[in-house]
Amino acid sequence: MPKFFIDPAALRAGDGGQRQVTIGGADAHHLARVLRAKPGDRISVTDGQGNLYEVELAVVTPETVQGDVLQIGPDQAEPALKITLFQSILKGEKMDWVLQKGTEIGITAFVPILSDRTVARPAPHQFAKKQERWQKIVTAAAKQSGRGLIPTVHPVTPWSAVPRLLTEHFTLVAWEGETTCSLRQALSQREQLTAVQLVIGPEGGFSPEEVEALVHQGALSVSLGPRILRAETAGPLAAGLLLYHYGALEPAPSTFPNNGR
Ligand code: SAH
Repeated sequence: MPKFFIDPAALRAGDGGQRQVTIGGADAHHLARVLRAKPGDRISVTDGQGNLYEVELAVVTPETVQGDVLQIGPDQAEPALKITLFQSILKGEKMDWVLQKGTEIGITAFVPILSDRTVARPAPHQFAKKQERWQKIVTAAAKQSGRGLIPTVHPVTPWSAVPRLLTEHFTLVAWEGETTCSLRQALSQREQLTAVQLVIGPEGGFSPEEVEALVHQGALSVSLGPRILRAETAGPLAAGLLLYHYGALEPAPSTFPNNGR
């Protein structure tokens, strides 16, 4: 049985004080008609904010499914390491790929940035529309891959605004011109990490001045190896390596072992 995403607003207190959940639309249809769910069945429902609910179904129709919340737990699909990918906007489908693959892999948030050599420069009046489209891609990928959280796509961010966003956490800038520090070396200095910001350049790469400015802000410049990766490859690869390094690619125990889903 797949995991269902609900809007936290779909949760409300029932008569006995117990929390109830209502599922409508395509998910109700899918549960009733395709999965042939029955009252009494238990399903897992996520609120997209990292919480998982075990729900016992009470009413199942193709229009509406209702159930009672039996228990709540942390969604094990969410990695303990929160990765924010600052990705220079890429041309056409490439940006879509990074968002989709990055979401499957486990990135928590995306910040689309405009750096010096960014070729795909949407006009300011298109920013909101782009963000909305990208958010849809990420939302679909989060559902498809069983994430417990729908990653956030932040607004298009000009380069000048990037440094002040980088102050909170450990920041890595992937630079093909880095000749000494590998990702492995950078991480070996950090035993425990809960959040990391990863900065990836556009098709033409970062200028040395841009890398310098980030390093000046406290970012660590890292190499991803002796080959030049396409801009759309670098972010998903680095995210996967980070999650692997911190043990976030292990199979997770089921949050509710008894419902078998
Ligand atoms: N300037 C290069 C290509 C840039 S690759 C050229 O035109 O030849 C696009 C982005 O991917 C870079 O900005 C960097 O963030 C990342 N990247 C690609 N290969 C990399 C490597 N070997 N090490 C670190 N980062 C890399």
